[in-house]
Amino acid sequence: MADRPTRPAPLPIMHVPVLTYHAVNIAGNDYACNDHVAFAEDLRLIDDLGLRVIPLQWVVDQLLGRAQRDLSRCVALSCDDGPNLDFHDVVHPVHGAQRSLYHCMADFVAERGPERQPLLHLTAFVIASPDARAHIDRGALFGLDWMQEDWWALAQRSGRIAIENHSWDHNHADVPGPGADGMPRGSFLAVDNRARADAEIAEAGRYIDARVTPHRTRLFCYPFGHIPDYVHREYLPQHGDVHGIEAAFSDGACPVGRGADRWNLPRYICGWHWKSPQALQAILQDATRT
Ligand SMILES: [Zn+2]
Repeated sequence: MADRPTRPAPLPIMHVPVLTYHAVNIAGNDYACNDHVAFAEDLRLIDDLGLRVIPLQWVVDQLLGRAQRDLSRCVALSCDDGPNLDFHDVVHPVHGAQRSLYHCMADFVAERGPERQPLLHLTAFVIASPDARAHIDRGALFGLDWMQEDWWALAQRSGRIAIENHSWDHNHADVPGPGADGMPRGSFLAVDNRARADAEIAEAGRYIDARVTPHRTRLFCYPFGHIPDYVHREYLPQHGDVHGIEAAFSDGACPVGRGADRWNLPRYICGWHWKSPQALQAILQDATRT
């Protein structure tokens, strides 16, 4: 009797919302105007809803067919720009003491026990250039040295945070002079050729990697959520040997599912796509419904 052809096992469900925070978003001490307060409360909400936090890299591994984990009812967490406030507590000049996102996770573990969210993890997309960080610190923040890199390796070694690539200098308007190849400042859409993309992405990866070794950056997050056609359609897909990036994230406000565009993966942004625990609950329940 001839063997029946074996049917391939069905692929596990993949429908993972990725939530994003900006630790410099502090306009008060309420949920709606403080990403630290929101983050701490959201960890409890995620747990109360019976959802599991997983590392963002797991979402990419699944998408690329490298892993076949059960990711049903999972959530991934990220934060952007890499201020010290991701890792260190600070005293805000107007709004007082602020618990870092890292310590909010530690507080959650102390409160609910390590077994509740054993994979609790945050991916921090940081800006590489020390010069650019210094200009952004003075121009867009308070000039209190909140854009340091000394915490990157500590955070990476903690096992709770992965340090990933948010470009060389964000092509931020506070960075003086033109960027690579005469690039005008203020928009990431200006990254429209090989020289500019190498300077913003590959160079950033090399700089960050040297500081978090043996970790190696593999994820990219588009500054301002701007997705230049050249980077999206050509540079990231075709020059992996140069930049080492496996997937790129933006702000599409839907869960990452099978068939998602690996060079433009969606995330939900705190303070934009949701401003209250009730709104986040609605997002999470909708996104993780199976
Ligand atoms: Zn940014």
